[in-house]
Amino acid sequence: MAQSQNTELLGLSLQELTDLVETLGRAPYRARQLFDGLYRQRWSSLEQFTTLSLGLRQELRESGVTVGLPRIEKRFASVDGTVRYLFGFTDGQSVETVWMPEGDGGEAGDGSASGDEELADKKDWHRATICISSQVGCAVDCAFCMTALLGLKRNLTAGEIVGQVLAVLEDQQVDVERSRLNLVFMGQGEPFLNYDNFMQAVRLLVEGVGIPQSRMTVSTSGILPRIADFGVEPIRPKLAVSLNAPSEKLRTQIMPVTKKWTIEKLISALREFPLRDREKLTFEYVLLGGLNDDVQHARQVVDLLRGLRAKVNLIALNPGPEIPFSMPSEKRVLAFQNILTRAGLPAFIRRPRGRDIYAACGQLKRTMELVQLTRE
Ligand code: SAH
Ligand code: SF4
Repeated sequence: MAQSQNTELLGLSLQELTDLVETLGRAPYRARQLFDGLYRQRWSSLEQFTTLSLGLRQELRESGVTVGLPRIEKRFASVDGTVRYLFGFTDGQSVETVWMPEGDGGEAGDGSASGDEELADKKDWHRATICISSQVGCAVDCAFCMTALLGLKRNLTAGEIVGQVLAVLEDQQVDVERSRLNLVFMGQGEPFLNYDNFMQAVRLLVEGVGIPQSRMTVSTSGILPRIADFGVEPIRPKLAVSLNAPSEKLRTQIMPVTKKWTIEKLISALREFPLRDREKLTFEYVLLGGLNDDVQHARQVVDLLRGLRAKVNLIALNPGPEIPFSMPSEKRVLAFQNILTRAGLPAFIRRPRGRDIYAACGQLKRTMELVQLTRE
């Protein structure tokens, strides 16, 4: 590995770092120092690795080893405290990551405030959710999603996925150990179509950065084979599935992925999914005015999810210029929620975050156009 042209350290596991230092004839504890520097200290250049000898740093540099966080190209700050980051990578591609202080609408966290109060006056204490991208664009092509309009450009590496989190934490000056952070893999892309890199990133975030797996949620459009793989992972986030419609016909219309993996197959795979103690599945349901937001649809959702340990997040459509759907009325959203909760299915209405800066769900794509405009 050390002989290769260019080895980016960010994204490597402890084992991979151990292999690297061993090829240089160094002791394995050096790998632990690298691991700690990368993920705990968030060091972003070899010079910062002062735990290593000058000689070793030099040797690493000469063997083509680099360290680098993704570059923050732009920050868009919303009136509600949300910050949308545009990250640029060395090949010119970019993705977006969203920082949402104080939870992501009151639902991702467990709502308990124990111990928070005494920390609240400290400057580097934070309670926030970070929404992470897993791919540049997305191939799944959901009809209501702006990311879909990009198509898939490429997968992100594990280092690029972890790097988004590290760069945001650094920018916001977060002390991970004293903060309450949630991570949601709900930005650009379908994490289960970049499964290995996504899972490697999860392990690094848990073991390296120190964010508990119980505070992470991944959302999928329903890539069935990976749901099965995910269930047996020793370290994994919680699972959310974008349902968005209760019948084959309607779901196929807005989520063409349904042609490949039907709702029936999806739900039976989820019935097999090995939930942990007190864990629930989350179903996301984007309400599209006049299309899937009728009380009739809500009753179908209840039937479909009967017997599953689940909750539902209702998201009113975040509109966009090229999205051919309209927002549901407030009245219909509440009526929909009411049907679910009365049937014993917990349902939460997700408050949109950062709509004014196009940071809300399904809006991550817009920046490209804005950046384009400013360049012209
Ligand atoms: N690709 C994954 C994760 C990213 S999308 C997935 O689809 O699950 C995260 C959530 O945003 C999904 O539940 C999706 O249904 C929702 N979403 C997409 N476009 C939206 C829009 N225009 N308005 C509101 N929610 C949207
Ligand atoms: Fe991809 Fe998710 Fe958008 Fe569908 S909703 S196009 S799966 S990012």
